[in-house]
Amino acid sequence: MAKSSVLGYPRIGADREWKKALEAFWAGKLEESEFHKQLREIRLNHLRKQQESGIDLIAVNDFSYYDHILDTATMFGIVPKRFRYEGGIVPLSVYYGIARGTKDATASEMTKWFNTNYHYIVPELDGAVPVLTENRPLAAYREAKEKLGIEGKPVIVGPLTFLKLSKGYQASETDAWLDKLLPLYVQILRELAHEGVQWVQIDEPILVTKLSEADLERLNTIYETFAASAPGLNIMLQTYFESVENYQDIIQLPVSGIGLDLVHGYKGNLQAIQQSGFPANKVLGAGIIDGRGIWKASLREKLSQLEELTKYVAAERLIVQSSCSLLHVPVTVSKETKLQPELKDALAFADEKLIELDLLTKAISTGAARIANELEHNDLALQALKQSEERNRLDVQRAVAEVSAQNPARSLPFEERHVAQQNKWKLPIFPTTTIGSFPQSAEVRKARQAWRKGDWNDEQYEQFIHEQIDIWIKLQEEIGLDVLVHGEFERTDMVEFFGEKLGGFAFTQFGWVQSYGSRCVKPPVIFGDVAFEQPMTVEETKYAQSKTSRPVKGMLTGPITIMNWSFVREDISREQIAYQLAYALRQEVEALEQAGIGMIQVDEPAVREGLPLKEEDQAEYLAWAVKAFRMTTCTVQPTTQIHTHMCYCEFHDMIDSIEAMDADVISIETSRSHGELIHSFEVNTYKLGIGLGVYDIHSPRVPRVEEMTGMIERALRVLDPKLFWINPDCGLKTRGKEETVASLRNMVQATEIARSSY
Ligand code: GLN
Ligand code: ZN
Repeated sequence: MAKSSVLGYPRIGADREWKKALEAFWAGKLEESEFHKQLREIRLNHLRKQQESGIDLIAVNDFSYYDHILDTATMFGIVPKRFRYEGGIVPLSVYYGIARGTKDATASEMTKWFNTNYHYIVPELDGAVPVLTENRPLAAYREAKEKLGIEGKPVIVGPLTFLKLSKGYQASETDAWLDKLLPLYVQILRELAHEGVQWVQIDEPILVTKLSEADLERLNTIYETFAASAPGLNIMLQTYFESVENYQDIIQLPVSGIGLDLVHGYKGNLQAIQQSGFPANKVLGAGIIDGRGIWKASLREKLSQLEELTKYVAAERLIVQSSCSLLHVPVTVSKETKLQPELKDALAFADEKLIELDLLTKAISTGAARIANELEHNDLALQALKQSEERNRLDVQRAVAEVSAQNPARSLPFEERHVAQQNKWKLPIFPTTTIGSFPQSAEVRKARQAWRKGDWNDEQYEQFIHEQIDIWIKLQEEIGLDVLVHGEFERTDMVEFFGEKLGGFAFTQFGWVQSYGSRCVKPPVIFGDVAFEQPMTVEETKYAQSKTSRPVKGMLTGPITIMNWSFVREDISREQIAYQLAYALRQEVEALEQAGIGMIQVDEPAVREGLPLKEEDQAEYLAWAVKAFRMTTCTVQPTTQIHTHMCYCEFHDMIDSIEAMDADVISIETSRSHGELIHSFEVNTYKLGIGLGVYDIHSPRVPRVEEMTGMIERALRVLDPKLFWINPDCGLKTRGKEETVASLRNMVQATEIARSSY
């Protein structure tokens, strides 16, 4: 009989009770003992749900007080030197210090977990002496067994992945580090074996990336060591997010099971199985239910995929499982009350995926007839979504097909546009501007709430927004900025704002997922054809422009960012979705231009987030991402200046694509890339307008003038002064008013100093 398995379950809880507990504890409103008690209840509740759904192999130790990579590091006593830690179990104060920073020590770096929107805390190895401070997988196993009678499957991040994601050591020290860590892993596994644990899941998602020969050798050493040290224990070597790179090597490792992602890596993994077979002495963890998507699976399709697999692996050696941890999807659809029925019926969040796993396991073990009713229901639900009005906007489909068949290009090349724009705008050398948003004060948030609740009518709210615009237009003029913005006071979130106004989007009430720590996001759902319905930003921008003689930049979120920060439909390609978004946004760009707005910024901070994990797929993605941006912006007059903005990550290896977007001006975050970005411009000689952020907006600290002149001088060593702009790193919505004004005044002063030597 096949078994069902889950690789991990969302931590946050259906009501985000986990987040609330964490934040209450941080705020000192919850005693530590009470905090532990609440988290235990949440954890057990999640296990109970999986047990009740009939899941055979339930992950334990997937739960966390913040992040599972931080858990692994602290379990090994790996604590950066700047935190006071005297050995032993890492206290919560230190644990949260590493994650969030303390008065005296900055937090550890946080970075994206592969190609997801989850962020983990990067372990810092330097100076650490790893020891096993506690066997957490064992504790989690015991708890599940004692409290619920669950025969759990402890999960651990594997040593190779852990090392590869850590920093603070040289490549040449990798083996030395492995030597330090392996005995600790061995101790954990031995204790698990001794306890009678049957399966342990060792996560090695790093195996979907390209590995060097040396790493493959390390992989061998690791798993040979494990097999020799804990012979009775079944190891499921778990991979996810893509197909594995070295299938042949991996299937030869001495483990009992190999877990493959058969959703995001379906093609590659299946091909490998078909070509090389699957070892008869191993179990296949068939990750067939999408752990990252929100849609119901087509049970029929999944069943036929499982049947295909049984040609290579006997059904009793199949484990039907999620493609990755369910951490990346919301908890349950059942609480949603406002979605239209065709949509709601086609969704499957974590709890609904448990049911799918159970059904497929039964069907593959005892025949599809056993789930005949469910199959029929499933067909109907998927059919209804397919036939929904939103998925059949022929007007959109036709227009997008036509527009995307053309090569989107501005009517003149940049050099000529640049001259025309200089003649029109007569901007000084080193024009100054900001990225778009100004402080979202408590007052702004309160006003929006009052309006959303209906306490304020539309006019009251609009008047309030106008007042904010008035204040900030005046302030920007006083500060002496050259290109102004309206301040984005009417927006909570740069994606949600547009999603609410475009056709084809839906918003859940409870569809939260963990982004990092206690921060959760509720991505919009792009479920239909995206349609422009009416101008979205024209009113506020026009109003702002009417209050000043200086140019006001219109402000839009770009197609790729909207797509990458949403859950999207899967019946058409991401490329097609991007073009639909681009076409809709193009209509907004045109509306702004028609309303007399001559500078329009289309933000694309999240371009890199959609970059495929496999190098060979990246060029294609970048090509259509660039095309979508150009589609959005190409129809304006040569004198209309298109801006874009990027932040959050490294861009130094993407400069060609950035240039290909052909924006007249890009403003780009610089401070967190530590000069790497500037260096890469040196190598690449960027030929369009560019503003490198001259100060970090993530801190309330007001930067000194000299710091910024330093940044400017450094940038001017590599960039053409005639194309250089001066701006902060990103939007200012999280900052206070006073520090914002003071920082911008200093920025303008630094600009004047720079101008005086040109
Ligand atoms: N225009 C947006 C703002 O200023 C850009 C935000 C972002 O880059 N994340 O807030
Ligand atoms: Zn930004």
